[in-house]
Amino acid sequence: PNANLFAALRGGFPSDLRNVAVETDSGLYYSWQDLLDATAMLANMLDSLDLPAGARIAVQVEKSVEALVLYLATLRAGLVFLPLNTAYQSAEMAYFIADAQPSVVVCTGRNFGWVSKLAFTAGTAYVFTLNEDRTGSLLERAARFGREHAVAVRAPDDLAAIIYTSGTTGRSKGAMLSHGNLLSNAQVLQKAWGWRSEVQGGDVLVHALPIFHVHGLFVAIHGALLNGSKMIWLGKFDPKAALQAFAHATVFMGVPTLYVRLLGEGGWGAEAVRSMRLFVSGSAPMLIETFLDWQARSGHTILERYGMSETIMLTSNPYFSLDGERRGGTVGPALPGVQLRVVGDDGLALAPGEIGGIQVKGPGVFQGYWNMPEKTAEEFTADGFFRTGDVGHMDAQGYVTIVGRSKDLIISGGYNVYPAEVEGYINALPGVAESAVVGVPDPDFGEVGVAVVIARRGSQLDPQGILAALKATLANFKVPKRCHVVAELPRNAMGKVQKNQLRARYLTT
Ligand code: ATP
Ligand code: MG
Repeated sequence: PNANLFAALRGGFPSDLRNVAVETDSGLYYSWQDLLDATAMLANMLDSLDLPAGARIAVQVEKSVEALVLYLATLRAGLVFLPLNTAYQSAEMAYFIADAQPSVVVCTGRNFGWVSKLAFTAGTAYVFTLNEDRTGSLLERAARFGREHAVAVRAPDDLAAIIYTSGTTGRSKGAMLSHGNLLSNAQVLQKAWGWRSEVQGGDVLVHALPIFHVHGLFVAIHGALLNGSKMIWLGKFDPKAALQAFAHATVFMGVPTLYVRLLGEGGWGAEAVRSMRLFVSGSAPMLIETFLDWQARSGHTILERYGMSETIMLTSNPYFSLDGERRGGTVGPALPGVQLRVVGDDGLALAPGEIGGIQVKGPGVFQGYWNMPEKTAEEFTADGFFRTGDVGHMDAQGYVTIVGRSKDLIISGGYNVYPAEVEGYINALPGVAESAVVGVPDPDFGEVGVAVVIARRGSQLDPQGILAALKATLANFKVPKRCHVVAELPRNAMGKVQKNQLRARYLTT
């Protein structure tokens, strides 16, 4: 049997291929047959380039259905897809292209000048363009090829994609994911989240995430395709357009900032999301306040899940109430097939409730970091668990709570300070919208915490008042030594707070 992920996704397409597979916010409709034809033409074109086995196709383009087709065609041809954040500029692109050594680079027409220069310097054989409006050399070239294509035969361990991590804690690393990694995770989620087949009325997914990342590319797209479910495709996230789409859909996946923006949109309530059955959140921690506000406004309980580039999805709050309740502030229990443990500094598993490093094992865990064998070896334990770099605890029922990243942990005067705990107290103070606590070097304590706080609209905050309020409630070693009230926190495209930027900014007073 062919373990190529494309073959499995194709197997999920509905029986009537004339049905709509993707409907876009610019009024375009793609049938399932359209997806088959377009991926065949593009896969034939890629085949014609005679690339070496394992060749990488690096792609930095705006979100479009054709970009999705390019991903699927790359799988179909048995090559390795390598998506890159559209925000990356020349310094970052130079690093990724030199590191990944792609055979093909696909970029926007606008960026062709500088990207092609970087690529050809690094030895890339082909640079094509693909624009949001379906123009560019990639599709022009593919247009000459036929619509028949035999899916390349791949084994479960063969590489399907390299996903560069978000670079939240340092330089991005290329996580190598196999066909088996991706398919096993998609199958687990299909079951866990109760994706509905055609016979059960069918699901419709509102796709509003970027597609250069695990959440939008794998969790969302594989979910819909494997289940033969239509996608309503939003190029850029716009809360009004998303709300309109909810009226015709059943499933939505977002990062926390998308939920905050939707809540910021007035004038809607439970009626607007009557057809929806599932709201998923992940990629960054969701504030409990957002979770509760969403419940009050929409009548839906957000399902929070946890994963990363190196592992795809690891835990999920239950979808079916028989499996348990969805608990805000937690990311739920480990998914079926995932072994998850919380360990202390000595590497031994901790008792429920105790805080430590999160380690995992399972079919979604990656094949290693591209070009970084030492780093890969370092991040696995002797018994084969991957060190996620996240810190958290697990309760007696297996629900996992993430309290931060080991790199963000503050050690002040010899005591561990978990930023998420302190942030929780700050967020509960009157007038505070949100906060981030980071550690900076200090001659006396080794490290001290600095609080960076955002006020609620219309509120005035006094930094000294915040520190005084914390002193009254928390052990002194946990209280940040400085506090700054600012207009916004630096975030990347996935809504993750860039704590390394905050550390650099507040290094000194
Ligand atoms: P880098 O590894 O380069 O520092 P990154 O870890 O942010 O960047 P990703 O693989 O995109 O790169 O993100 C995975 C991380 O996102 C997880 O390790 C975790 O810290 C965080 N994350 C994902 N889902 C959640 C969630 N539901 N709650 C809290 N954090 C989450
Ligand atoms: Mg990471």
